[in-house]
Amino acid sequence: MTLMKSVSGIRGIVGESLTPAIINSVGSAFAAYCNFSTVVIGRDTRPTGPAIEKGLESALVLSGCHVINIGIVPTPTVQIMVEHLRAAGGIVISASHNPVEWNAFKLIGGTGTFLTAAEIEHFFALMDKPFTYRTWDGIGTVTHESGADTVHIRKILSVIDAEAIRKRRFRVALDSVNGAGSSITIKLLSELGCDVVPVHCDMNGLFPRGAEPVAENLSILSRMVVSEKADVGFAQDPDADRLAIVDEAGRPIGEENTIALVAEHVLSKKAGRVVINLSTTKAVDDIARRLGVPVARTKVGEINVVEEMRRHGARIGGEGNGGVISPEVHLGRDSLVGIGYVLEIMAERGMTMSALADGLPKYVMIKGKISLAGGVDGSILKRLKKEYAGQKMSSIDGLRIEFISHPEFQGGWVHLRSSNTEPVFRIIAEGRDARQAEGIFRHFEKLLL
Ligand code: MG
Repeated sequence: MTLMKSVSGIRGIVGESLTPAIINSVGSAFAAYCNFSTVVIGRDTRPTGPAIEKGLESALVLSGCHVINIGIVPTPTVQIMVEHLRAAGGIVISASHNPVEWNAFKLIGGTGTFLTAAEIEHFFALMDKPFTYRTWDGIGTVTHESGADTVHIRKILSVIDAEAIRKRRFRVALDSVNGAGSSITIKLLSELGCDVVPVHCDMNGLFPRGAEPVAENLSILSRMVVSEKADVGFAQDPDADRLAIVDEAGRPIGEENTIALVAEHVLSKKAGRVVINLSTTKAVDDIARRLGVPVARTKVGEINVVEEMRRHGARIGGEGNGGVISPEVHLGRDSLVGIGYVLEIMAERGMTMSALADGLPKYVMIKGKISLAGGVDGSILKRLKKEYAGQKMSSIDGLRIEFISHPEFQGGWVHLRSSNTEPVFRIIAEGRDARQAEGIFRHFEKLLL
């Protein structure tokens, strides 16, 4: 098993590909990347986090860096604190949605956003060079900063109508998968006058359900929403950059609909561009068309969406996997921003979550992955490009085909690409109903297998 290195960072299975030697080389190379200056670090609740954190701190300090450790916090909190503290960079120790045996380093540059493709290539090159260390009188220091939650929450409260939300006294069930979102999200919800029903908010790092906030992992949250008569249920992944919603009837509205719901809300208040990745639901295109605003689609990976937002400006951005990016708060996916906006929608419109979800354009998405040791033969994508020449296509990230004139698939699309975070090839298909989505998915799965 090799280490996964991509724009999403460096991921491995602890004890197999993620070893003390790797921790040391990440810390030593990142020290050089940051010019031996100040680095903010934070982590999720995985059981391997404390030991990795010690190794990383050690390499950074012996290289001469000043480390500010902000403890167990969501990934977006680390991003915000890099900017807030004017640090040279940051590292999040979290394998995000990967299962508990994984851990990873997510690397943040001086602007508080993930390293770009070019920056991370430069970093990978530094990992292969000899490292330089300081003598006893030149080593760095570690300080612990406990106020990161407050900084993050304050930023969110500044972009939403907190007073309108407080008046409604919402009852909210929260499933943080015992991850880094647990404590800060309960604090945010309390600030918003919500009555919180915690589900998996123990921060013990043992994931009591699948780590991704996808519908099949949310049955306990769904049951709690119903039995506790909550107005809404929120689910995060272990590092709390992704958000999924369960309506008051206990029905997961689908993580694709998080960005659809928020984009519709934000853009109808004030027009502007919306940026999403190639795998995100077409519901966002429909909403943008209705509101007369432009949509840009990018390669998958948060930094790709962020770079496009930075380059041409955007009112809102995100990824269909439950990632909401509000440039007013910070250029990074943030489940807490998503929660703030969703509660604002419910407060301002006075509608139930089920009614809000019913108002969204109807699509069905099927996501699948094929484990292919040697990767997918590139010639298959080339052949498909020819075969579907009449359709709308993008090949900036694998191949995405939008069926604009197809007897069976019209109105749907498929995206075929190698994953950044797992050794798999992904197939994402979306159709106007379950039958069409299934038809598209099966057709391309058969071709690839
Ligand atoms: Mg994540």
